[in-house]
Amino acid sequence: MLTIGCHLSSSKGYLAMGKEAVKINANTFQFFTRNPRGGSAKELNPSDIEAFLAYAGEHKIHKILAHAPYTLNACSADAHLRDFARETMADDLRRMEHTPGNSYNFHPGSHVKQGVETGITYIAEMLNQILRPEQTTTVLLETMSGKGSEVGRTFEELREILDRVTLSDHMGVCLDTCHVWDGGYDIVNHLDEVLTEFDQVIGLKRLKAIHLNDSLNPLGAHKDRHARIGEGHIGKDALIRVVNHPALKHLPFYLETPNELDGYAAEISLMREHYQYLKTRRINP
Ligand code: FE
Ligand code: FE
Ligand code: ZN
Repeated sequence: MLTIGCHLSSSKGYLAMGKEAVKINANTFQFFTRNPRGGSAKELNPSDIEAFLAYAGEHKIHKILAHAPYTLNACSADAHLRDFARETMADDLRRMEHTPGNSYNFHPGSHVKQGVETGITYIAEMLNQILRPEQTTTVLLETMSGKGSEVGRTFEELREILDRVTLSDHMGVCLDTCHVWDGGYDIVNHLDEVLTEFDQVIGLKRLKAIHLNDSLNPLGAHKDRHARIGEGHIGKDALIRVVNHPALKHLPFYLETPNELDGYAAEISLMREHYQYLKTRRINP
């Protein structure tokens, strides 16, 4: 069974997201932990969480993925902004434990002229301050497109961060198909090679989630503009191959395509329809 969902608005709470997911035939979803521009988080509602956990069990909603506000910068040159990123993420991780066993994704940050080495040092430092041995949440570094001075465009940079985190058992990677494509990894013509490289540099066991997006820009553009499935430079067939790749097909897939709910529903059904397509064909020629 393919685990796939999309990004949903968290404004109405967990149960509402769970129901929305089920309505569009998703069995997971992603959401922002708070306003993406980084405001204070809404108070958690224990009865909403309890109702969601029961609903998720009933409807077999798998691991959900929280996304940190994308404006946080753990490697800013400004110490106040680094503190803000650390405190916000620490608070998010405390809150995540109310829905145990899920994942929390964040953009490593932008080093803005300090150099990637300094950026990596700050990011790892922050993680060492906020990770707790007892936490059940896995923290994911997202692969980035390399726009501006983003850290995490290359697998090597992500590996470098992971290597410096003491409680690295609580860490993983979320691969964004638009970002790696824009970052210069040719997942259209060389998916096997890209995944082999990922395995050699980071290790596939660290890969915990996929952001499934098409890209408005060509390979290596360093732009990060998502497109609907089949409306970008990656294309529908390549994304179907991603979902079916033996190294990936067990992972949860999250659409972050520019869509309303009905558009997401259509992309989910497209992917479900083509899941294990090749295998089925081989069994019944
Ligand atoms: Fe992201
Ligand atoms: Fe993403
Ligand atoms: Zn993006």
